[in-house]
Amino acid sequence: MSIIGAVDIGGTKISVAMVSPEGELLAKAEGPTAPERGFDDGMARIRAMLEETAAQAGGSFAGLGIGCTGRHDVLNGSLGDVGAFLPGWDGAPIARLLSEAFGVTAVLENDCDAAALGEVAWGAGRGAQKFIYITVSTGIGGGLVFDGQLYRGVGGAHPEIGHHVIDPGGEKCFCGAHGCWESFASGPAMARWWQARYPEPWDAGQICRAAAAGDERAKEAVEREARYLGIGLANLITLYAPDCIALGGGVMRSLDLFLPTIRSVIQQQAGLVPHHKVRLVPARYGTEAVLMGAAKAWMLRYGQKGIA
Ligand SMILES: [Zn+2]
Repeated sequence: MSIIGAVDIGGTKISVAMVSPEGELLAKAEGPTAPERGFDDGMARIRAMLEETAAQAGGSFAGLGIGCTGRHDVLNGSLGDVGAFLPGWDGAPIARLLSEAFGVTAVLENDCDAAALGEVAWGAGRGAQKFIYITVSTGIGGGLVFDGQLYRGVGGAHPEIGHHVIDPGGEKCFCGAHGCWESFASGPAMARWWQARYPEPWDAGQICRAAAAGDERAKEAVEREARYLGIGLANLITLYAPDCIALGGGVMRSLDLFLPTIRSVIQQQAGLVPHHKVRLVPARYGTEAVLMGAAKAWMLRYGQKGIA
């Protein structure tokens, strides 16, 4: 059996894993991103974690998938403009560097695109032909996999689902628009709405727990969040009529609280497409979504040569 190495580079931590071709997580390691220690130091830690997990999984790996938050030149395997959270890493040819270090082929994907590939291969989207993965946490991101192919825009661009406009009267976003989906429905958006009204400095998770325990104010916050989640999802359903949407990310751990309102908004707003056929499901993978998908991304690009 040939195993695949996987790397997930996020703003706060870096995770590394070994994944089997059947989608089994064989070994995992993680550490802080610590971008202040510089790119070379980060790469040395990634290499060490790959060696460590490969040893745990029984030896070497056949290829390497890398998922990283941000917008990258995925066709060349180079990081994009990541300076805001990984200063000094901008433009780094990370796939080539790791490929040379280990003598294997390597691919780079946006982290949400990778997670989408993992969920459709082995997770909540298994069997779906028109699949959309959405993650709701500090922002909203997503990936689209249609007929087994990851959807890419011009030049391989990652489409920014979290930045479609819900209400142009909304607040200005760093993307240039006003009233993006994530500015209404991300975890921090939920917390901002709450903290503008109530003294408790609660985050989205605390609000959801209070709502589940019966707090009426928190239930109102949940209702508002569900309505905005529903509007965005209804837009996606109208645009793409997918057969399955999987919902991941920290805020979606409380999906059950949001689901009745999400469903009623979709029913109200997506009337031209068969919205009742769309499966809305919780994502299977939590913190391991990007690792699983990074491994799958490598299998899709190099699998026939590497592990078939
Ligand atoms: Zn935006």
